[in-house]
Amino acid sequence: MATHSLPELGFAFDALEPTIDRKTMEIHHGKHHQTYVTNLNAALENEPSLQSQSLEQLLANIESLPASIQTPVRNNGGGHLNHSLFWQVIAPPTGANEMSPALKEAIDKAFGSFEGFKETFTKAATTRFGSGWAWLVVNESKELEVYSTANQDNPIMDGKQAILGLDVWEHAYYLNYQNRRPEYIANFFSIINWEAVSKAYEKAIG
Ligand code: MN
Repeated sequence: MATHSLPELGFAFDALEPTIDRKTMEIHHGKHHQTYVTNLNAALENEPSLQSQSLEQLLANIESLPASIQTPVRNNGGGHLNHSLFWQVIAPPTGANEMSPALKEAIDKAFGSFEGFKETFTKAATTRFGSGWAWLVVNESKELEVYSTANQDNPIMDGKQAILGLDVWEHAYYLNYQNRRPEYIANFFSIINWEAVSKAYEKAIG
């Protein structure tokens, strides 16, 4: 029973080079992400009533799930949701990748300027100790906010809608950058798919 499945990438494994190398993408998508999907499906195998729920529903109500599957759903459902967003919000730089006027305005309002956003996001990603994610989210007041989460926790668990995420687990960068997480974070800004982030923003605002 495979309720959840691995999404296909919208680009080739080597399309993000040199920012993210081919081998990292192959392992990250084909092994790490696939394992989250496989383990999520295994956790839901004996819970037919939960199989039709969306990942967002499952994670937003994690406390109401049977105790025995809360941790596997949190880790693997979170892993599946986080990576599914990650593949959407990165893309080869095309030169025709502008953010929408609405998102630009919201970023200026929340962070003063794009540079202010970049600084805040970089700090969140750099200072997340161990494994986790840095996020740009739409919060409960429909305003933008940057923060980070540990492990595979997704902002939906805090009632926030992620519109941009950066994976700072070592598996996301170690082959190419080793311990140089700050360099990986700095380069990440050149492969953000602002069109996709803008669409996610519009959806989150409603
Ligand atoms: Mn990852």
